Amino acid sequence: MRQLRRILIAGGGSAGWMTAALFARLFKGLYEIVLVESDEIGTVGVGEATIPAIKKFNELLGLDEDDFVRRTQGSFKLGIQFNDWSRFGSSYVHGFGVIGQDLEWLRCHQYWVKLHALGRAGELDRYSINTWAALANRFMRPRVDMPDSPVGQIAYAFHFDAGLYAAFLADYARARGVERREGRIVDVSLEGNNGFIRSVTLADGDELAADLFIDCSGFRGLLIGEALGVGYEDWSHWLPCDRAIAVPSERSTDFTPYTRSTARPAGWQWRIPLQHRTGNGHVYASRYMEDAVAQQILFDHLDAAPTGEPRRLRFKPGRRHAGWVKNCVAVGLASGFLEPLESTGLHLIQSAILRLVRLLPDAGFDQANIAEFNRQTVFEYERIRDFIILHYKATQRDDTPFWRHVRTMDVPETLARKMALFAANGRIFREDDELFAEESWIQVLIGQGVIPRAPDPLVDVTPMAEIERYLSNIEGVIAKCVSLMPTHEAFVARTCQAP
Ligand code: FAD
Repeated sequence: MRQLRRILIAGGGSAGWMTAALFARLFKGLYEIVLVESDEIGTVGVGEATIPAIKKFNELLGLDEDDFVRRTQGSFKLGIQFNDWSRFGSSYVHGFGVIGQDLEWLRCHQYWVKLHALGRAGELDRYSINTWAALANRFMRPRVDMPDSPVGQIAYAFHFDAGLYAAFLADYARARGVERREGRIVDVSLEGNNGFIRSVTLADGDELAADLFIDCSGFRGLLIGEALGVGYEDWSHWLPCDRAIAVPSERSTDFTPYTRSTARPAGWQWRIPLQHRTGNGHVYASRYMEDAVAQQILFDHLDAAPTGEPRRLRFKPGRRHAGWVKNCVAVGLASGFLEPLESTGLHLIQSAILRLVRLLPDAGFDQANIAEFNRQTVFEYERIRDFIILHYKATQRDDTPFWRHVRTMDVPETLARKMALFAANGRIFREDDELFAEESWIQVLIGQGVIPRAPDPLVDVTPMAEIERYLSNIEGVIAKCVSLMPTHEAFVARTCQAP
């Protein structure tokens, strides 16, 4: 069996450089790593909002967080605000981290449901330090010395400039021995006996052989799709958005520690605050909206002057039938696409790389490793897909054909089951290691207006006066903590302001 020695990464977008950086760091020269990218083709150049798991990736790379934020013109993210999603004028936040504290056997939201039914509860927002701080434009890192206080439970991620991020990782990987080749791959050769990839040929005629090929070539899936013929499962019947227009604007005074997503007539618009600019984009369904109208809507809703040309992107939501076939593993857009509503693109890259690291063969390619990689990948994609579909399905909007379609469409059985269970008694269970924890589901379900018919009957074990005291205590402590936090702007200025 052939020993694994040489790895070729096809593509130098976020997927390619994240893979190169982590492999270089973890394997410390054990493998020869070459990355091929084409300046002529370029990258998608978006992907600027993240979820807290990215901190783990940074830790594995051994990055200094302040330096990383400074070098990518980054900012901090406590969650995502969803405006007009449930109905016009509605607003809620999916804050990272916990909601309140458990009491007896139950999660905080069960007591909230009880009071809400009696008309005596405020917004659920008040029980999450992340959401409260976000709406107050405040930020600080969690106090690890105070694990029982809300300030010990702050969870955060980042916004950053995708171009600077890729450049930062490229410097990092090359400093650790990754070889960069600029050039366009024009041909892929397969072994005659087993159909494995033998080499790729560049436009200048150079042929590059390797033992393992990581396809980070973007939507096209140059190796996994075009060369190996692995097909794509299309999810557009559940997720009809298939286009986006992105444009940067000047930095606005509203330097929010959260991403904003505002529903539009046939999709939604994002707003991502960075230190040197604001990232904006409109994701929409071409079946329901013309490109020119989508662009006009985007420009009409910028909160500062645009600073660049609009960039148009087309995509098909779904996933590859298999992410790992023979000696080729797809990472990033080559392996699938879910619209960036919950900022999961870079996370899917990170988890694919880590999965590959855990299942990397020493010699040859054992089908057991490949099958496990593919099983975990499918599970991860499908559960994130369900969470994204929830935002559409649970809308009360019926003002346009797009919203009427999504609120009445059938959804995957795995999602329908979760929604029905929650609607009954507010129960939600995280299955295996699915990405989004119970708190995420609870906030989006309630935010979208799915209020359980009744709380878990166990709430009645606690006397009413005690429930009211418990909730108002959480609210009071969070309010006090937030009032002591610095503003997001002040925190960045003090710790990681870009030059
Ligand atoms: P690309 O960036 O497309 O890179 C492909 C690479 O392959 C390039 O270097 C290209 O030059 C190279 N290549 C292609 N063909 C060849 C060839 N023939 N020869 C040589 N090289 C070749 N994710 C998030 O986490 N948060 C977000 O907020 C977010 N927002 C998004 C918004 C939109 C509209 C879209 C479309 C995606 C968003 N994503 C987001 C996803 C994120 O952008 C991607 O997951 C990420 O950028 C990874 O892209 P990639 O590296 O797979 O592909």
